[in-house]
Amino acid sequence: MIDIQSLVRKNIRDLKPYSSARDEFQGKASVFIDANENPYETGYNRYPDPLQRELKQKIAEIKSVEPTQIFLGNGSDEAIDLLIRAFCEPGLDNILYPEPTYGMYKVSAGINGTEVVTVDLNEDFDLEASVLFERVNHLTKIIFLCSPNNPSGNTLDEIEILDILRKFRGIVVVDEAYIDFCSSNGFAQYIDQFNNLIILQTFSKAWGLAGIRLGMAFANTEIINVLNRIKPPYNINALTQQEALKSLENSAQKDKWVEEILAERERLEKALKDINVVKRVHPSDANFLLTVFEDAKGTYDYLVDKEIVVRDRSNVKLCDQCLRISVGTPEENDLLLGALSKMK
Ligand SMILES: *Cc1c(COP(=O)(O)O)cnc(C)c1O
Repeated sequence: MIDIQSLVRKNIRDLKPYSSARDEFQGKASVFIDANENPYETGYNRYPDPLQRELKQKIAEIKSVEPTQIFLGNGSDEAIDLLIRAFCEPGLDNILYPEPTYGMYKVSAGINGTEVVTVDLNEDFDLEASVLFERVNHLTKIIFLCSPNNPSGNTLDEIEILDILRKFRGIVVVDEAYIDFCSSNGFAQYIDQFNNLIILQTFSKAWGLAGIRLGMAFANTEIINVLNRIKPPYNINALTQQEALKSLENSAQKDKWVEEILAERERLEKALKDINVVKRVHPSDANFLLTVFEDAKGTYDYLVDKEIVVRDRSNVKLCDQCLRISVGTPEENDLLLGALSKMK
């Protein structure tokens, strides 16, 4: 077991968190005149539950974790930011991640004045723990691993991730934003075994709720408590909590979308490979295809002209001439394929 408290920044350890009205009284009462709210019923005149108990109960059932092992953020982006602020002393500590990957680790580190150390994935975008460990130093507090990885689309080798979990003495974050699209069970099952492990998942992708901003973190209760101490008191608003509860009641809809998106991914991948200007389509365990073109920038501009927007990743490490294409509806994918096949 790792001593989590010794990894937390000293000012955070010493912090006395804000105690909201809803933290100080949670029982049943008939008159609430403790929070300076408007007493007239609008549906939203009351502050929301700061710890989102009902929502966490439902998520716990679906994800097979305890409610106390869940943190909810205003998108997983909030969890990324809070983790760096909790564990990395600005101007001193560093975070480490393999590249190419999701851009927010770097941005959040930058905002916190935290140095970023990187290591390249290999040419198939695979992770090699031994290569990563060459870059770890005594100031490395967090390792971020994104699996399935954005923008490459592949899941990282589970044996390599486990190797990192067994050896690294800091915090390991496995970002599973795309877990619903891959066949792996993911790493939430390991949070009891490794108390330094944090899993990030989100309602933004498979659940179809990017607009409500809701991200999940799963970890042992000690880490969750650290995040709860430093989060804004009412970080998940009442509308978001309601929408998420509704969506969890109908998780069959999510499963149906995933099934359709996976079928379309397969069709799109095959069709792209037959198109002249496409050089390669990287295998994907997510809802997008990293695709190598003869001329990525030219193709991007050509598609924008046809009112089709893809993500240009050609300036990203190991992604020379690559566009990242999200799987759309069958009609949208047909429009893309039609446009590309007419390109000279
Ligand atoms: C889309 C994405 C997220 C989701 O972020 P939210 O803030 O929850 O919308 C997180 N991590 C990765 C790698 C992503 O691609």
